[in-house]
Formats: sequence, C-alpha cells, structure tokens
Amino acid sequence: MSLSSQTITQLRAKLTAGEITAVEIIDSLEQSIKEKDGAIGGYINPASYDFDAAREAAKSADLSLPLGGIPIAIKDNINVKGEPCSCASKFLYDSYVSPYDATVITKLKAAGAIPLGRLNLDEFAMGSTTDNSAVQRTNNPHDYDHVPGGSSGGSAAVVAADTAIASLGSDTGGSIRQPASHCGVVGLKPSYGRVSRYGLVAFASSLDQVGPLTKSVEDAALMLNVLSGSDTMDSTSLEVEVPDFTANLDAGVAGMKIGIPTEYFAAGIDPAVREVVDKAIDQLKAAGAEIVEISLPHTEYAVATYYIIAPAEASSNLSRFDGIRYGNRSSQADNLIDTYKKSRSEGFGSEVKRRIILGTYALSSGYDHKYYDKAQRVRTLILKDFTDAFEKVDAIVSPVCPTAAPKHGENSDDPLKEYLADICTIAANLAGIPGISVPAGTISNSAGNKLPVGLQILGPQLGEEVILQVAKVCESF
Ligand code: GLN
Repeated sequence: MSLSSQTITQLRAKLTAGEITAVEIIDSLEQSIKEKDGAIGGYINPASYDFDAAREAAKSADLSLPLGGIPIAIKDNINVKGEPCSCASKFLYDSYVSPYDATVITKLKAAGAIPLGRLNLDEFAMGSTTDNSAVQRTNNPHDYDHVPGGSSGGSAAVVAADTAIASLGSDTGGSIRQPASHCGVVGLKPSYGRVSRYGLVAFASSLDQVGPLTKSVEDAALMLNVLSGSDTMDSTSLEVEVPDFTANLDAGVAGMKIGIPTEYFAAGIDPAVREVVDKAIDQLKAAGAEIVEISLPHTEYAVATYYIIAPAEASSNLSRFDGIRYGNRSSQADNLIDTYKKSRSEGFGSEVKRRIILGTYALSSGYDHKYYDKAQRVRTLILKDFTDAFEKVDAIVSPVCPTAAPKHGENSDDPLKEYLADICTIAANLAGIPGISVPAGTISNSAGNKLPVGLQILGPQLGEEVILQVAKVCESF
C-alpha cells in the first residue's frame, strides 16, 4: 500500500518506529498527485508546488510532535503565508498572496505538520458542487461525471483519491460534511468557537468553522486536538478546555441514546440513501444504542433562515473586495465609483453576485426587520429545538444529504433546488453545534459506479467527543 493512501495514525506509527521517513511520504504524495490529480482537479496549480521545500521541511520535522512529518492539504480560502489564496475566484486568482498564516496553519505547523497544496472550492465557499469555482472543475474520484460536493470539494476529493493524507476544509452550511459524504471520507465540523477562524477568508462569520477531512475517525480526532483552542485573534473562539479527543474514541455506544429526527427523513430523501442510513441505524442499535424518535419542529424553516443570514453576512464581508486593497482592479475604470463597480463585476462569478444581491436586499433599510431580524429570531427557535432534543438524547443521526453526488451541471440552472439539498446540514451551523459525516455505504449509479453515502452525527455544543465516539462505531460497520 502506497504511503499516500494511509491514515495519519498509520503513518505516525511507522515514522516513530523508524520504518519510514517523512521525506518518503512527500515523495509518495508527489507521485500520486502527478499521476492522478490531472483527472480529478482537486489541487489548484499543482505544477507550481515546491516539493523540494516540502522535503526540506520533512527532513527537519520533529517526529515527537502529534502531527510530526504529516503533510496536510489546505482549502484555498485559508491563508498560508507566502502562498496564493484565490478562494477559487477571479478576484484573487493570480493577484493575492497571503501575508500571514491563519491560526489553524500556525497550529498545524506547531504540531509538526507540513501544509502542502491548495484545494479547489466553490468560489468563496458558496455552493454545494465545487462547480462554482472560477478556476477549474473538480471530479468525484468515484465517478468523474459526478461532482465531489462542495464547497470543500477539493478537500474531500484529494483525501478520497489518496492524493492527500488529510486536508482542511471550512463549513458554513455543510461544506465539510457534504463533500465528505459524496466522496466517502470523514468530515468534521467543530462547534462554533471551538476552532479559530482567524485567517479563514470570511463568508458568513456567525456560521463559518474550519475542520478536518480525513481517512478515519481517529485521524479527525487527532486533527481536532491540534486545531482547537481559544485565540486572541478571533473573539468568537471559546475559552474552554480542549479535551484529548482521541481518549474515549473506543468507548462504544452501549447505553447511549441516539435521536432520529423525523423531519430529516421527510419527503425528498432518495430511497437508496435512506436504505443506507437505516442500515447504519440498525447497526447502532445492535451495538447497544437506544434509538429514539425525536422532532426538530423548526427544520422546515432552516433553509430559508440560512439563505437570509448567510448572504447578508456575505454581502458585508465581501464588500472588502472593491478593487482598491485586494485582488482584481479593473483597467476599464476611470473614476473611483467605476473602479468599485467594474472590479466587482469582472471579479465575481454569478453565484457570488447572486448572494451579494440577496444579502444586500435583506439588509437594506426597511427590509432588515422583515428579513434579517426575523431570520435571527427563527434561528433561536432552531437552536432551541436542538437544546430540547439534547435533553433527551446524547447524539442525533441523519443523512448528510438527500441524494448521493449529482452529475456535473445537474442542478446548475436551478439554484433553489441546490439550496434545498442543504436541508440536513445547515441547521447545525445555525445552532453552532458540531457535526461529522462518516462513510456509511454506497449506492450504484447508472454507469455501474458506486457512489458513497455518508451518515451525519450531530452532538450538543462542544460535544465533539460524543459524535466522534459514535462515528468510530459506525466506521466499523
Ligand atoms: N451549500 C451551502 C452554501 O452554498 C454551504 C456552503 C458552505 O458551507 N460553505 O452556502
């Protein structure tokens, strides 16, 4: 088995036993990226990567550290000093180089990891397919005609294709969990505030979280150990103790109460997806969990609430891209206002423009009360649904997405259809609770290929230990 296809845990054991070197891991990755990424398109500009510099970093890596010698691929909306950070947008592509490290990158480096490679995404993380990237298309490694999911499509595809050991993604409404589900890898969205957002290019600041995509649940726990913690550079990061997330991984689910929310199994879920999820639930029961039907009654408002709050915050966050300080400046403009207008018209793609227009409208004078304020009130009800539910159960299990990965272009003329498919993931962001997607099975498509289906496990705020514990059991099915 090539080194690039192994988990962090496996590689770490071999590194510390002296059976392999960190340089050999880089060699293996370089080879697999060169062999496979041309067809998958997970990495942005891999031909420009300095593998020799990565080998130098590998040579001096401190193997006694938790991620010593492990290369980690990074979503292209997270700043790594000296590297381009395009957010898959024409606005920044070719013109923006990060002047600093995001806190998650500082933490990875301090833990001995080597950030290596920039991963494709939907432009500014807006989307569910990665087809909104202005840079390139990313294919699902299980069937190139299908999308990898999004917005962290590159982050999921490279881990699934063994062209990365593990990666970082960001999740505002499902963007770690959904591509993880579509590509058959593990994807963890931490609780809001668990991980610093400093250096993540902001999409919707009250929803965004950074998290890992990995080949195993144990690797996700290991990565979370490193990424977590309060940060003076992000006032929304929480000052709470960081447990060792690997400590209770094998505690099992015996005696645990697991909630099944009726609303997440409503019409619209593909029966084949349902079958995979039902089977996983039966297995959890067989492993000793008590399965309890629960209700999250405000679920039907989650999509509408999210698609007010996220675009509103995006319209504000993206106002910094005005052609003056960052990225693209139009050469066609002859005064200041024209510079703003033309730089933005040329630099942003259509989905980003749609969100800015929707968000600006929702915040505009006279309408803010009607839309934004109301959405915030509904958000509180959605949070209350979860608070009530977690008085009765330890964790909640559901599909991640109503279908397996769609084909490229399948929903491109119908944004509403694409937004509705976020139904199972976005409430967790609105409530700030943690969620994980773990591979649960596959379904065959008409081309005879097997497309992965993930199981979502949600926990109470700061309840990452519980969801990792449940995920670890599911992984063994
Ligand atoms: N699909 C959702 C959206 O388009 C979620 C994106 C994300 O989590 N970044 O907004």
